[in-house]
Amino acid sequence: MLTWKDVINFSVKGNPEPDKRVEKTEAEWRELLTPEQFRITRKKGTEQAHTGALCSAHDAGKYNCICCDTPLFDSTIKFESGTGWPSFTQPIKENAIKYHKDSSFGMIRVEVMCNTCDAHLGHIFPDGPEPSGLRYCINSESMQLQKESIKNEQ
Ligand SMILES: [Zn+2]
Repeated sequence: MLTWKDVINFSVKGNPEPDKRVEKTEAEWRELLTPEQFRITRKKGTEQAHTGALCSAHDAGKYNCICCDTPLFDSTIKFESGTGWPSFTQPIKENAIKYHKDSSFGMIRVEVMCNTCDAHLGHIFPDGPEPSGLRYCINSESMQLQKESIKNEQ
């Protein structure tokens, strides 16, 4: 399980190797994505709180990168943070996400990106629920929910 210490280590010393890389030009991404998805994932934008389609999603499944379709999170690690953005406590796999120290807007924050295609996803904070204490605060527009085919009502 990743903790805040691991996240800081990744952001300072370098991120784990991804299983594969997906690289495209800005023009290619623009063609694949909606203008809002492009603004957020490729230009480090943020969607307005409480507007994202996945904010209150509770279906079982995986949350995949909207750009390259790599699984990033799953529904079992999603939690209701009340912030207005989908929130998770862990990545689906340690090397699915990359971390980058972000000092824009006069704050030191840790940006989270897709480790496969560098899509901007959101930020991570050390105020999540135990045991990891992590809160991945992610834009809905950066992900698509791939629902599980066998429905689990509980
Ligand atoms: Zn990606």
